[in-house]
Amino acid sequence: MVNYLFCLALCWYSLPIYAQTYTINTVPDPKSSPSRNFVSNPDAILSAETVQQINQLLWQVEDSTTAQVAVVALNSIGDATPKDFAHDLFNHWGLGYAKKDNGLLILLVLDQRRVEFETGYGMEAILTDALCKRIQTQKMVPHFKNADYNTGVLEAVQSISQILLQPDVATDVYDPSKFDSNFGLPPTTGSALLVSFFMTVVALMMWVFRAATRSGNKVKEAIDRAVYKDPKRNLQVALLYFVLPLCIGLLLLFSHVLEQFTFLAVLPWVYAYILLMVVWSRLKREEIFDKIYDKLPDASKYEHLSAATNRYWIDAILFPIPMLWFWYQNRQRLHHLRYHPRKSAGGSELFLLSDAEKTAYLLANQQKEEELGTVSYDVWQNSAQSDTEVIGYEDLANFKYERCTKCGSKTYCLDRKETTLRATVSAEGLALHHYACKACNYTRIKEVTLPKLPPPSTSGSGGSGGSSSSSGGSSWGGGSSGGGGSGSSW
Ligand SMILES: [Zn+2]
Repeated sequence: MVNYLFCLALCWYSLPIYAQTYTINTVPDPKSSPSRNFVSNPDAILSAETVQQINQLLWQVEDSTTAQVAVVALNSIGDATPKDFAHDLFNHWGLGYAKKDNGLLILLVLDQRRVEFETGYGMEAILTDALCKRIQTQKMVPHFKNADYNTGVLEAVQSISQILLQPDVATDVYDPSKFDSNFGLPPTTGSALLVSFFMTVVALMMWVFRAATRSGNKVKEAIDRAVYKDPKRNLQVALLYFVLPLCIGLLLLFSHVLEQFTFLAVLPWVYAYILLMVVWSRLKREEIFDKIYDKLPDASKYEHLSAATNRYWIDAILFPIPMLWFWYQNRQRLHHLRYHPRKSAGGSELFLLSDAEKTAYLLANQQKEEELGTVSYDVWQNSAQSDTEVIGYEDLANFKYERCTKCGSKTYCLDRKETTLRATVSAEGLALHHYACKACNYTRIKEVTLPKLPPPSTSGSGGSGGSSSSSGGSSWGGGSSGGGGSGSSW
C-alpha cells in the first residue's frame, strides 16, 4: 500500500516534467499534410534549426531514392518498449514505398534513454543491424550522454543520407511504385500535367455550358456565329485552350510550386483560368455585339443587348472581381439606351410616365404583353400632354411565347397537351397540342405523333462500382517494417 502510494506520488510529481506520454496514435505525423516534413518533434527536443537541416537532407533522400526516413523524438512513451513502439509506429504510418519497403524510422525516447532504428525489408540489406548499431554508438550515444540531441541526431541523419545517396545504393533502394498515384510521373511533373489537363477540361466544359445556355436565344446564337467567323478567334482559342494551359503546366513544373498534387493546390489555378476564359469570352462578345448591332435604333439595340447579356449576373456572382464591374457597365449602358432624355417630333421635351399613368395609353393586347412579361412598354409624354410616344421592348430571351399570327402580339403559346392515343412498344401514339393567343383568343390545334416506347430493358441501370485509388503522393508510402534495425541506450 505504501509502495502504491509512493508510486502514485512519483507519477504525480513526474507529470509536469513528462507532460505527455505518447502512443502510436498520438505521435504527430509529419506527413499528415503534404509537406517536406520528416520530423516529429512535439516536445521540442530538437531545435528548429536542426529540424530544418534534417528535413532538407531527408527530402533530398526521398527525392532521389524514394526512400523515406522519419525522425521521431519524444519525451516519453510510458511503459511501452521502444523497439515495439518503433515497429508499431513504422507500420502505423507505413514508412517507405510498398514494393521495396524502403522506410527507416529513427525513434528517440528520452525518459528511457533509448534510440531505436526500425528498417523496412528493402533497407535491411543496406542498413544492416550492425551498421545501424555502429551509427548509434559512434554518432549518437556520445552526444546524447551530454544531452546534445541535436548534434547526435543530425550526424546520424547525415551518415544515413550519405549511405543512401551513393549511386548504386540509390538504385537498389529506388521504388517506382511511389509514382503509381501520379500516373508514373514524379509528383511535380504529375501535378503540373494535371493542372494543364484540368484547365483544358474546364475550358471544354465551359464551352458546352455556354452552348446549352444560349440555345434558343437568337441574339446569343447570332453573336456566337459571328464569333466563330472572326478570323482572330482561332488563334485566340488555340492560345487559351491549349498553349496557355501547357505554359502554366511547364511553369509549375520548373518552379516546383506544386510539390505534391492536391485538389486544394490546383483549385486556385483552375479558378484563375476559368476567370480568364470568362473575361475573354465577355470582351469578345462585346466586341462582336458592337460590330453587328451598332446600326440598330436604340429600342432595338436595348432588346438585343438585354438578350445578349441576360445571364450576366451568374458570372458576376461566380467572379465578383472583375465581372461585377462588367455587369455594372452593361447595366449603365442598358439604362442609357432606354432612359436617355427624349424629345418629341415637335421638339418638346418628353417625360416618362409612371406605371399607373401609362396604362391608359396602352392597347389591350399591349397590356396583356406587359402582364405576361414578353414586351414591356414605356410611355413618354410632353408636359402639355400633346405628344405621346409609346416604346415597346420585347424580351428576346423569352421563348415561351411567340408572336400571334392573327394579332401580332407576343402572347401566343402552347396552352396544353392532350394525348389521344398512347404510344406503345409496337406503335406510335398521337397527341394534340393546343396553342392559344392570350390577347385575341385565337386558337390552333397541332397534331403531334408520339414516338414508339423503347423496349423494356432487362438489365436495369447497373452502376459501375467506382474504383477508389489511394493517393500515396502526399504521405508515407505504405511500407511495412521488416523488424530489422537496432537499438542503443545511453
Ligand atoms: Zn392574337
